[in-house]
Amino acid sequence: MREGLLEIFQETYQELRPGSSPPELTIEFFAFANINNTIRLREGRLLVRLSDLLEGAPDAVLRAIAHILLAKMYRKPIDRGQAARYRKYVGSHELTRKAHLVRQMRGRKLLRSPRGHFYDLEAIFEELNTRFFHGLMARPQMSWSQTKTRRIIGHYDPAHNAIIISRIFDHPAMPRYVLEYIVYHEMLHLKHPVKLRGSRRCVHSAEFQAEEKLFPRVAEANTFLKRL
Ligand SMILES: [Zn+2]
Repeated sequence: MREGLLEIFQETYQELRPGSSPPELTIEFFAFANINNTIRLREGRLLVRLSDLLEGAPDAVLRAIAHILLAKMYRKPIDRGQAARYRKYVGSHELTRKAHLVRQMRGRKLLRSPRGHFYDLEAIFEELNTRFFHGLMARPQMSWSQTKTRRIIGHYDPAHNAIIISRIFDHPAMPRYVLEYIVYHEMLHLKHPVKLRGSRRCVHSAEFQAEEKLFPRVAEANTFLKRL
C-alpha cells in the first residue's frame, strides 16, 4: 500500500469526527474499469477501495478523496474545496486518457467468445483468410454480439481491433455463406481503413467495393439479408 495513505484517512477521520477514534481501516487500490472509489463499514471495520488510477495521485488529491468518502459514510457535508480538488484531478486530461485506455483494455475482456452454438467465428475467419487473403491477415478478436441485434449485423471496431457479428447469425436457419459474407465484409474494413476524401469519410471506397464483388455469392447473400 502507498506510504502515508492510512495516515491521510485517519487524519481526515479525526477532522470529520473530532474526539472519536477511527475504526480499523483497510485501504486497497482496485482495478475498476471506471474511476470509482467505494467505502463500506463491515463489522466495525472500514473498507476503502480506491481506483488504481489514483495510485499516483498527489497527497492533496488523496486527502480530498478521503474527505469525500468519509463525509459520505458519516453523513457530513462535503467540503466544496475538496470536491473541486478531486474533480479537477479526475477531469484532467492525462487521467481521462488513462481511464479511457484502461476501459478499452478491460472492455476487451467483455467481448464474448468467438464460439457460438452453431458457428465458430475464428474458424470462419481463418477459412476466409486462406481463400481470399493468402492467409496473410492477422486475426483480430472475433466475437458474437452480446444481444441478438438486427440493426447492426456486423461491425469492425478498430479501437479494440475486433470484429463483432450479430448473434442472430449463430443459428441453423442462417446459411453459412451469408455469415461468411458478413465476416468477409468486415475483413475488408480491416484491409481498407476508412479514408478521408476531402472532408468526407469514405467507408466503402471503390477498391473496397471492387474487392467485395469477389465474394462468389454476394448478390444471393444480399438478397437473403434484405429479407431478414
Ligand atoms: Zn461496411
